[in-house]
Amino acid sequence: MSLKNESVTILGAGIGGLTAAICLLQRGARVTIFDQAKKIEGFGAGIQLSPNGFGVMSSLGLASELIAKGNILEFINVQNFKDSTFSSRVNLMRVTHGNNNPHLVIHRSDFIHILIKKVLDLGAKINFGKKASHINYNNKEIEIFFSDQSKHIAKLLVGADGIHSIARKSIGYNKPPKFMGKVAWRTVIESKFVPLFDLPSEATIRFGPNRHMVTYPMQNGKLVNLVAVEKRNEWVAEGWNYSDKRESLEQSFKNWPVNVLKLLSVVEDVKLWGLFSHEIPAKWHSCGIVLIGDACHPMVPFLGQGANMAIEDAWVLGEELDNSVNFNDGLKKYQARRINRVKKVSRASLANGDIYHADGVKAKIIDIGLKASFKLKPSFIQSKYDWLYGVDVSRGD
Ligand SMILES: Cc1cc2nc3c(=O)[nH]c(=O)nc-3n(C[C@H](O)[C@H](O)[C@H](O)COP(=O)(O)OP(=O)(O)OC[C@H]3O[C@@H](n4cnc5c(N)ncnc54)[C@H](O)[C@@H]3O)c2cc1C
Repeated sequence: MSLKNESVTILGAGIGGLTAAICLLQRGARVTIFDQAKKIEGFGAGIQLSPNGFGVMSSLGLASELIAKGNILEFINVQNFKDSTFSSRVNLMRVTHGNNNPHLVIHRSDFIHILIKKVLDLGAKINFGKKASHINYNNKEIEIFFSDQSKHIAKLLVGADGIHSIARKSIGYNKPPKFMGKVAWRTVIESKFVPLFDLPSEATIRFGPNRHMVTYPMQNGKLVNLVAVEKRNEWVAEGWNYSDKRESLEQSFKNWPVNVLKLLSVVEDVKLWGLFSHEIPAKWHSCGIVLIGDACHPMVPFLGQGANMAIEDAWVLGEELDNSVNFNDGLKKYQARRINRVKKVSRASLANGDIYHADGVKAKIIDIGLKASFKLKPSFIQSKYDWLYGVDVSRGD
């Protein structure tokens, strides 16, 4: 079967939903998109588009726009928080991972706007301000009920509605996401307040007891993106993110070096996120409703892969639907192609969190081990994630 003129509905216009819309539209489908937000802006934070996600964007024809708005990373540094030497420093210009796609960092708002423009150029409409409250399959078609009392009928529904997905519940997965014992502050700082904190092409991960910090430049070095993560026993806020005070971020990192404290002292708006996840469902689709991205497999952000996995999902879903005998066959093939990779990435992300937050003797051993392999066998560190970054699902991997 071909997707030409097939009607597909997408719930959620985040990175996953918008990428799926482009993949399906380019294959000739008629796509309707709904999102609860009044408009999509992308909040103040950056995102790392790794070579595996970039490959899909490139195949969708978006490489030059992304490169124009983003920064291509040349180095990724890992640093012990109180040590100005590097535990490891990977020169990404010398690493291919099996493809030539770059590691790009970009402001989320710039990324989202590039995706939205492409969706609109391909002739689809995004229906904003439409919060789905309930989804029902009536043995014939899918009914989506919105909080404004309207209803939409779908033949195929892509649930790209994020970690608190309604679509996930509608396919029978009712377990709520659970708090993963870590919180993340996210903010963007104007570089003029902290000149040369990071070079325009370098990302740095600083790790220390029970916390770590990731910084990288955005918008040609005009901005510094900051993600600071701390271990916590519980999440007490009602929502899963809220505006926090700069002082609580400063308090958490008060033992860190002066250059970091100086960076924190110029933070203006900062948001605090509880990190949540749930087990990856055994079945990703039912009765023509299929899950992608965080709606299906939210993961801790310690490998920067949540959005990259959503992007890969979107491509594979489009390709399998287009090449299958019917929708159900396509959905089965989509899940079969994705589930093991997503599970592996999710486990690797959790493992990275343990490394970054190690304390005491364990932290010393990790630091010594990283420094030794960086010195004696840099190729080990450089190629450690080839299995992840070297895959480009849009060229059939
Ligand atoms: C601190 C932190 C840093 C991160 N850094 C990275 C990174 O560098 N690289 C990376 O790849 N990933 C990163 N991630 C993960 C990434 O942000 C997510 O995995 C990604 O945004 C998921 O995209 P999505 O489209 O699946 O879901 P979302 O971005 O959550 O989008 C869901 C959309 O659905 C809409 N929606 C939700 N419910 C409804 C409803 N009932 N009705 C209608 N619309 C609805 C929402 O408004 C939203 O627009 C990070 C996450 C965190 C917390």
